[in-house]
Formats: sequence, C-alpha cells, structure tokens
Amino acid sequence: MKHISLLGATGSIGTQTLDIINEHPQEFKLVAIAAGKNIELTRKIIRDFSPELVSVAERSIANELKVEFPHVLFSYGEEGLTEVAVYHKANILVNAVSGSIGLVPTLEAIKEKKSIAIANKETLVTAGHLVMEEAKRNQVSLLPVDSEHSAIFQALQGENQKNIERLILTASGGSFRDRTREELSNVTVEDALNHPNWSMGAKITIDSATMMNKGLEVIEAHWLFSIDYDRIDVLLHKESIIHSMVEFHDSSIIAQLGTPDMRVPIQYALTYSDRFKFPSAKRLKLEEIGKLHFRQMDLERFRCLKLSYEAGKAGGTMPTVLNAANEAAVAAFLDGKATFLQIEDLIERALSKHQTISNPSLADIREVDLDTRKYVHSLLKI
Ligand code: NDP
Ligand code: MG
Repeated sequence: MKHISLLGATGSIGTQTLDIINEHPQEFKLVAIAAGKNIELTRKIIRDFSPELVSVAERSIANELKVEFPHVLFSYGEEGLTEVAVYHKANILVNAVSGSIGLVPTLEAIKEKKSIAIANKETLVTAGHLVMEEAKRNQVSLLPVDSEHSAIFQALQGENQKNIERLILTASGGSFRDRTREELSNVTVEDALNHPNWSMGAKITIDSATMMNKGLEVIEAHWLFSIDYDRIDVLLHKESIIHSMVEFHDSSIIAQLGTPDMRVPIQYALTYSDRFKFPSAKRLKLEEIGKLHFRQMDLERFRCLKLSYEAGKAGGTMPTVLNAANEAAVAAFLDGKATFLQIEDLIERALSKHQTISNPSLADIREVDLDTRKYVHSLLKI
C-alpha cells in the first residue's frame, strides 16, 4: 500500500488526487495533508480520509480545527507544509500546492527519500537544478503530474534518452487563443478564468490565458527530461487530446492521447509503472472527434512564452525572476490591481532589470524570489 502525503489538498489537483485515493482504498492511504485557507473543505477531508497530520496556512485555522479533531496532529504555515512533506509514515508526496512555496517542502521530502509526484511546476521553474541534483543524489523518482510531462514520460517508457530528437508540447491556447493583442487590453478576470478545456485553479488558468503556463512547462520539461531548450517545441492544439509528443532521431513521433481529465496523469504518477482501471474516466472516441488541429505558436502574440524561452536559456536566477514576477503579477491581476496585458510587461521589466546569478543556492533563490515580488509591487505601487 502506498502512503500519501498531499500538499494543496483543497485545490483542483488536490481534490482530484483525493478522487483517485477514494477509488482505490486497497492501494492508497492518505496520511498527511496541507491546505491553505479553505477550512470547510479541510474539515470534510479530515472526516472522509482521517489523515494523521494536517497543516493549514494560518495558526488560527489550525487552532479552530484542533478543537473539533483532538486526535489529529496540526501544524501551519511554511513549516507545516514541510512537516507534511516529510511525514514519516508517507512514502510518496503529491505536491499540488500552487507557487514556489512548494520548493522547500519538495527538497526536504527528497532528502527523506520520498517519491515525488510533482504537479507544482513553479518549484521546478524556480530551482530546477537544485531539485534535480537532490533527486539524483538521493535516487528519488520525480513523477510528473502535469499532463504534458506525463505524456512525454509515458512516450519515453522503454526508450533511450539519447535517441530523442525533440519534445513537442501541445498547448490548448487558453481562454484568449483566438483574440488579437488589441482585443486583450480590456479583458476582465472573469473572462480570463473561463478556460475552454480544463477546469483548474485560478493562477494556472490565468497562466494558460497569458501562455505563461506553456512557458513554465517548457522550463519544467527542460529539467525533468534533461533536454536543451532548442529541442523543446510548442504546438497549438486546441482540442487538448494529444497531451504532448516525443520525436525520435528516426523521425518517429510517439504521442499520448486522452480526454482532458487530470485524474488520468495523477493516477499514472501514483501507480507508475502500473495502470489501474479508471471506471469514471471518459474514454476517447476518435471517430466522434474526427479531426485534430495543430498550429504553429506565434511568439510575438504570446510574449510570455518567448520570455520563458529567453529566461530558461539564460539560466541561473532568470527563471526564478520569471516565475516570481509572474506569481506577483497574476496575483495583482486577480486582485484587480493590474490589467491583463500588464502581466507580461511586469515580467519583462523584472527580467531586464535582473543581473543573473549563475548556479544559485537555495538562499540566492529565496532572496531573488522575494526581491522580484517587491519590485513588481513597487511598479504597481502596492
Ligand atoms: P489551486 O489554486 O486549485 O490549489 C492550490 C492549493 O494550494 C490549494 O489547496 C490551496 O489551499 C493551497 N495553497 C495555496 N497557497 C498556500 C499556502 N500559502 N500554504 C498552504 N497551502 C496553500 O491550484 P491547482 O490545483 O490548479 O494547481 C496546483 C499546482 O498544480 C500548480 O502549480 C499548477 O500549476 C499545477 N498544475 C495544475 C493543473 C490543473 O489542472 N489544475 C494541471 C497541471 C499542473 P486553499 O485553497 O485551502 O487556500
Ligand atoms: Mg499542463
């Protein structure tokens, strides 16, 4: 039986992970969770799954829950996230928290030799080299949850890394795929949160609309599969049926297909290298779909993707700046303090101001992350 600790239990990936655990009670047991501020849902998860350790964002929430559940261990804040990640009874960590706050818990869990099912892409973007080095040193597997990376991981089973010609990530295009840049100047938070294919947390839905999500995924792919940026391409594919592909030297391309349902890659990460039946999964009927469409990406239209390639290639702390500026700008947009098009401007300004530090330590990364957020706030006067 796999014993799971889950960061971000109340989120979109978190609750879908709980669905998987629920479907296979003989295989999985939830032993520890971390949530943020959603006390109602946390309460329900404690009742339904009886985790032994629960962390929440704030002490006051932990105190309130402690009265109701005296037999549960409670913690809070960033330390709580790490306590859940390294909980001694867990052998696998599902990291589904949003943002670079997931970095330290991931590193600590790797040191404790937990397998890591990683949805939290910001962690790999902000400090991919540290995470990969630590995973290698401790011989820990990093199992991708993000659908594109799961697709690539699946396409690479039984293949030799040296035979890869390039990775092809597919992009649905997000809420604003068919709008021109001019049409984006007055879009609202509500418009941006309306994703055509996937139902996800607010931050990643905005990232999909700006195409930053694909930029973060390019960097994530670079680290997970150890491939140069020149050999990672992005293709617009509006149906989200092909989740990504690998092209090999002999010109063969292997793709993974499926309906857009995150529970499939989540389950694959939890059962790898096995595949369990998934009774409620909608099966793909290609004869009903008929056609699939592909289009080249326009890097001028989707500036965040261009900036991501540039930051990734520059290396050092540039991806940290890209990620932190994006987190701060998206939070400001969601809060009504920045416009949609300002997101990319803020990221570009933060990147052009930054002097990169090569091979940064964890302390460097944390400092640059904090400074970048402050800089973005200062530009927005917040
Ligand atoms: P959500 O916003 O739905 O969920 C985020 C989770 O993190 C919630 O449980 C939230 O708690 C918790 N959280 C946020 N801030 C804190 C904090 N400071 N301390 C503790 N917990 C915190 O996000 P998603 O599930 O959509 O995404 C999670 C990650 O997975 C992201 O990195 C995203 O990019 C990635 N991902 C998501 C996909 C998707 O389909 N959703 C697909 C591929 C990758 P609470 O709500 O209780 O405040
Ligand atoms: Mg994805």
